Amino acid sequence: MYTLLWLQGLTCNGNTQSLLNAENPSFYTLFDKINLLYHPSISYDVDLFEIINQIKNDKLPLTFLVVEGSITSDKRFFSIGDYSIAQIIDALKEKADYIIAVGNCACFGNIPANFDKNSDVKGLQFRFKEKKGFLPSNFKSKKGYPVINISGCPIHPQWFVSTILNLLYKKPVYLDGFNRPKELYMYLTHDGCTRNEYFEWKVELEEFGHKEGCLFYNQGCRGPLTHSPCNKVLWNNTSSKTRAGMPCIGCTEFDFPLRENFFETKKNMGIPEEVPIGVSKRVYITITGVAKTLKNERVNKRLEETE
Ligand code: SF4
Repeated sequence: MYTLLWLQGLTCNGNTQSLLNAENPSFYTLFDKINLLYHPSISYDVDLFEIINQIKNDKLPLTFLVVEGSITSDKRFFSIGDYSIAQIIDALKEKADYIIAVGNCACFGNIPANFDKNSDVKGLQFRFKEKKGFLPSNFKSKKGYPVINISGCPIHPQWFVSTILNLLYKKPVYLDGFNRPKELYMYLTHDGCTRNEYFEWKVELEEFGHKEGCLFYNQGCRGPLTHSPCNKVLWNNTSSKTRAGMPCIGCTEFDFPLRENFFETKKNMGIPEEVPIGVSKRVYITITGVAKTLKNERVNKRLEETE
């Protein structure tokens, strides 16, 4: 029997909303295969503490412990009954085959950890970029994995479902430096964006929502700096922020809530302070200079003007 227990710490519930939107397989199909022991927003008439006791006493196996939201031991911030979320995770951490953090709060502490930098609010194994989360940096669950981080604010449901199914069917899940599945996070948001040609020819978007132009040069798009498959695994199977004309705000990265003004590209003498991952500033200046000089007439026209 495969089982899944979903717990929440300090969270807005966004990843739960995502889970409910899962397709292929849907939420219902997924939980045909897996016994959902408890979910705070979905379960009713279930005694969480009875379940925790059974798991602690090895009367109930725990395949997946899924955590949404930041962790704190301070019951003034958040408690479940008489217990803090930290105490509950502490009681279960040795029992789970896999522990999965869903969303940037559970992965890195995110917005709740940023409110008070001196508080004990953190992610499960990271606090922003440091491996100083609630569980020790060398922690591994029963199947030998560290906390598997599915980062994003919120996550795409398919990122969670595909990771669960890979683990269930014993496919290896390779992790990056932030313990995120490489199969998902080796991509950049930029990969697959329909605005790539505008990026290459340095054609800037004039206003949010326009079909033409790239959002990197003025509107703060983090696509070339953010690891996510947002333009590979499309949202609602249809689109993405950047396709719709809204800049990527880098919400899968540890520093997402630490930045200011998401809709502005910080520049120094007209050159973006941060250039795409893998490119030096010198190469970037050369390539964009050439692209700007050798103007591509087609991409400089509004789409309705092209033949
Ligand atoms: S809009 Fe963003 S993601 Fe799309 S091509 Fe431009 S920089 Fe890349």
